[in-house]
Amino acid sequence: MDLNLTKDELQFRDELRAWLAANMPRDWNDWREKPLEESFPYLRAWQRKLQEGRWAAVSWPKEYGGRSATLMEQAIFWEEMARVEAPPMANSLGLGLIGPTIIAYGTEEQKKRYVPKILSAEEIWCQGFSEPNAGSDLASLQTEARLDGDAYIVNGQKVWTSYGWVGDWCELVVRTDPNVPKHKGLTVLLVDMKAHGVDVRPLRQMTGESEFNEIFFRDVRVPAANVLGKVNDGWNVAISTLAHERGAYGARLHLLFKRNIDRLIALAHTIQHNGKPAAQDPLIRQKLAQYYAEIEIMRLNQMRAFSRITATGVPGPEGSILKIFWSELNQRIQQFAQELLGPYGQLLGTDSRAVDHGIWSYGYLRTRGNTIEAGTSEIQRNIIGHFVLGLPRSY
Ligand SMILES: Cc1cc2nc3c(=O)[nH]c(=O)nc-3n(C[C@H](O)[C@H](O)[C@H](O)COP(=O)(O)OP(=O)(O)OC[C@H]3O[C@@H](n4cnc5c(N)ncnc54)[C@H](O)[C@@H]3O)c2cc1C
Repeated sequence: MDLNLTKDELQFRDELRAWLAANMPRDWNDWREKPLEESFPYLRAWQRKLQEGRWAAVSWPKEYGGRSATLMEQAIFWEEMARVEAPPMANSLGLGLIGPTIIAYGTEEQKKRYVPKILSAEEIWCQGFSEPNAGSDLASLQTEARLDGDAYIVNGQKVWTSYGWVGDWCELVVRTDPNVPKHKGLTVLLVDMKAHGVDVRPLRQMTGESEFNEIFFRDVRVPAANVLGKVNDGWNVAISTLAHERGAYGARLHLLFKRNIDRLIALAHTIQHNGKPAAQDPLIRQKLAQYYAEIEIMRLNQMRAFSRITATGVPGPEGSILKIFWSELNQRIQQFAQELLGPYGQLLGTDSRAVDHGIWSYGYLRTRGNTIEAGTSEIQRNIIGHFVLGLPRSY
C-alpha cells in the first residue's frame, strides 16, 4: 500500500482545490441546520454547479459526464469536500448507486434519457428495494409486475424508501415470475414516481424528520421499455446497486467522524466535569484517544480496500468489515458525546442553549439507523463468517 500521491493525483487535487476556492457557496452555514425539505432546492443548485465543473460524479466514466477518477482520486475528492465542509449533493442515491447501475445495465436509450438529468439533479432518484416482509432477505419481496401488452402492471408496497418524498424516479425491484426460485423471478423497473397509482406516504423518524417513506403501487403501468437489464435478471442488477452502496458509503465517512471528534476534543476543554475541564478527566481522555485511533484505523482500512481493488480489480471482504466498523463506531462516538455534554446534548437545534446547533441530539438519534441501513450488522457478520472465515451458513 503506497499512500504517497502521484503527480497526476496531486494535479487532480490542486484543480479541485482551485475550483472549490472559486465556487464553494459562502452562505452554506445559513442552510446547514435547516430541515432537508427546506434546504433541498439549495442542495440541487449546489449539485448543478458541481456538475458544471464536471465534479458531481468523478468516478463515472468521462463519456457519461464523469472524470473516470481512480479510487485514490475519489478518496481525494471526498477529502477535499470534507476539508472545506462542502454541502452534500441533492441526488445522492442517483449519483452514488443508481446512475452507475444504469450505466452498467441500461440500453443506450436509457443511458441517454436518464444519466444527464441525474448529474444535473434535474431528476431525483430513490431506491425501491425493501418491503414490510423483505429487508435482509430481499429476494423474498412480493411487489409484483405482470406484463400487459407493452407495459408492466405493478402492485405492491415498498418501505423505508429514502428520498421517496422528493423522488422523480425509482429503481424498483419487482417479482415478474412467481413460479421459479425466488432469486430468479425478479426484475428491475425504472418507475416514474408521478405515474398514476403511485402513492407516497411519509414515515416520521425519531429525529423528527421524514427522510424516508412508504410507497404503495396500485395498478401502476410501467412501459416494458423501462426494464433495466434483462427480465428475471433483477437480482444481479440489484446486487450491483448494493455493491455501490457499500463501497461509496464508507469512503467519505472517516472524514466526517474526524470532524466530530475534533469538535468533541474542543468541547472537552470548555465543559466542566467536577469543577475541572472535562479534558482533564482520565476517562474522557482515554475515550477521546480511543476514538481518534479507531478513526485512523478506519481510514487505513479504507485505503487498504482501495489499494486491493486497484491491484486486483476485485473488491475484497473489506466492504462488510468497514460497514460494521464505521456504523458501530459512529454509535459509540455519539453515545460518548451525550456522556460528555450531559443534558445539554439532548437539546434540539431549535433551543438556543443547544450545543453546536443541536447536531449532537440529532446525531445520537440518527446513528441508531446506521447498523440497519445498507445491510444490518448481523447480515454483514454472516457475510464475513461465510465468505471470509469459511464458516457454514447460519440459515
Ligand atoms: C436510515 C435508513 C434508510 C433506508 N433507506 C432505504 C432505501 O432508500 N431503500 C430501501 O429499499 N430500503 C432502505 N432502508 C431499509 C434497509 O435496507 C432495511 O431496513 C434493512 O435491509 C433491514 O431489513 P428489515 O428492516 O426488513 O429488517 P429484517 O430483515 O426484518 O431484520 C430484522 C432483524 O433480524 C436480523 N436478521 C435478519 N436476517 C438475519 C439472519 N439471516 N441472520 C441473523 N440476523 C438476521 C437483522 O439483522 C435485524 O436485526 C433503509 C433503512 C434505514 C434504517
